Amino acid sequence: MTTQEAPGDAIAGLDAFAARVDGDLIRPGNPEYDAARQVENARYDRRPAAIVRVRTASDVAATIRLARDSGRRLAVRAGGHSVAGHSAADDAIVLDLSLMRRIEIDAERRLAWAEAGVTARQYTIAAHAAGLATPFGDTGSVGVAGLTLGGGIGWLVRKHGLTIDSLVAAEVITADGHQLRASEDENADLFWALRGGGGNFGVVTRFQFRLHPIDTVAAGTIILPATTEVLRELVPAALAAPDELAIQAVIGRAPDDPSIPPEVHGTLIVDLEVLYAGPLTDSELALAPLRALAPAIKDSVEAKPYPALYPESSGEREGWFARAMFADTLDDELIGAIRARLADPTAPQAVLEVRVLGGAMARVPVEATAFGYRDRRVLMWLITWFTDLTQAAQHEAWLTDFWSEIRHKATGVYVNFLEAEGDERVRAAYPPQTYARLAEIKRRYDPENLFRLNQNIQPAPAERVGRTP
Ligand code: FAD
Repeated sequence: MTTQEAPGDAIAGLDAFAARVDGDLIRPGNPEYDAARQVENARYDRRPAAIVRVRTASDVAATIRLARDSGRRLAVRAGGHSVAGHSAADDAIVLDLSLMRRIEIDAERRLAWAEAGVTARQYTIAAHAAGLATPFGDTGSVGVAGLTLGGGIGWLVRKHGLTIDSLVAAEVITADGHQLRASEDENADLFWALRGGGGNFGVVTRFQFRLHPIDTVAAGTIILPATTEVLRELVPAALAAPDELAIQAVIGRAPDDPSIPPEVHGTLIVDLEVLYAGPLTDSELALAPLRALAPAIKDSVEAKPYPALYPESSGEREGWFARAMFADTLDDELIGAIRARLADPTAPQAVLEVRVLGGAMARVPVEATAFGYRDRRVLMWLITWFTDLTQAAQHEAWLTDFWSEIRHKATGVYVNFLEAEGDERVRAAYPPQTYARLAEIKRRYDPENLFRLNQNIQPAPAERVGRTP
C-alpha cells in the first residue's frame, strides 16, 4: 500500500486500513489525487475523501468495511463512465477497481473470466486473439463492470443479445463483507438481480462470460441526408434486416470534415454506423435496403477485425448532458421535433442516437433477468457535448427543453443511460413487478442501502416478525 498523509483527515482508522490492504490509497494532497478523482464526463468535478485502488477481493471487502464503519458514502468505480457521475462523490470513499484487470480466456470452452476493472476494449482485444468475442457496448473505454450490471446494449445485441445474456457467473462482495458466487445454480436471486439491477447488491470482483465466434466483420458508416422520408423508413428497414446487422443512426449536423462534401457541412445528416457480424459475402445484401433509402453522402463500410470497433479513446475530456428513452418507432411528430431541434443546438455537437434493437435480445423472456424492456424496438439517446464548462447551463436548458417535447413518446428507459434524474426515472427503467423483486433482493443483500451511489433501488421494508395486533 502506498499512502500519503493529509492533514485534518477525518476518516478514523485510515492508517491501519492502509497497512492492511494491497492496493493504493490516494488522499487529498497526494500528487495523484487530481488525476485519480477524474471521471469520464468533465462536468463531474468531485473531491472524494479517499480513493482506494484495490488489487484483490479482500481489498474490496476491507474498503466496504471502511465505508460502513466510517459512515462515509461509498462510490464504486470500474471504467468511470457512469452517465450519472456516480463513480465519484464529494467526501466519499471511492472504491476504484481499475487495477483489477486480469482476463482469462478459455477458448476451448468458450468462457472467459474478467476482473472488474477491465474495459470493453481490453477484453475485446484479448478475446479476439482466439477469434472470439462477448457483446459489449459501442465504446472501448467503458468498463465491462458498469455496462454489464445495467444490461449492456451494443454491436452484437441483435445477434447475441445483451451483455448479461452472455454472463455465466459473478463473484460478489456484499455489504456485510462476504464473498459470494452468483450464477443460475448459486444465489440465483442475486444472479437475476445483477443482470440489469446495477451496482445495488454488492461489488462484483470478477465476471464469467460466454464467448462467441466473431472475427472479421463488415463495419463503417453510411451517411445519408436526414430527410423526413429517410428517418421514416430507417427503423422499419433496420428491423427487417438479419440479426447479424447492427445499426446505430446518429442524427445531427454534419461536421466540417474533409471526407464530407463542403456543401453538406452544417446540414442535418444521419450517420448510420453499421456492423455486419455474419459471412462477409452476405453483408452487401443485408445493407442494400439501407443504402436504398437515399444516395449516400459517404459510405465507408469495409471488412475489419472486430476490435477495430473499439478504438483507443482520444483522452480528450468534454462535458455532456444526455437523456434517453426506449420507443417503438419514429413517427412523424417525433421526426418533426428531431429535425427542428437538432438543426439549431446551442452546443457545437448535439445528436440523437437511435439504436435499433430486436433479434436475440428480444428472444430472452423478460422475467429471466432484471433488465426491464427486452421487447422495445428502439433505444434513443439524446446527447450534447461541450468543452467550455462555463456554458453548461445553456446546453442543459436546450437539452431538457427538447427532451420535454419528446418524452411523452417514451416507453421506458435504459438504466445505464440515466443521469441523476430522480427516483421516478429509476422506476421507469423497470416494469413494476421487476422493481418490486429487485427491492426485495436489495433488502436481503443490502438492507441498509450501503450501495446507494447508483441508480438506487430502495430496499423493500423489513418483513414483520410476530403477530400483528
Ligand atoms: P463506472 O462509472 O465505473 O460505474 C458505473 C456504476 O456502475 C457505478 O456507479 C456503480 O454503481 C456500478 N459499478 C461499476 N462497477 C461495479 C462493480 N464491480 N460492482 C458493483 N457495481 C459496480 N451502455 C451500453 O449499454 N451500451 C453502450 O454502447 C454504451 N456506450 C456508452 C458510451 C459512453 C461514452 C458512456 C459514457 C457510456 C456508455 N454506456 C453504454 C453506458 C455505460 O454502460 C454505463 O455508463 C456504465 O455504468 C459504465 O460503466 P463503467 O464501469 O465504465 O462506469
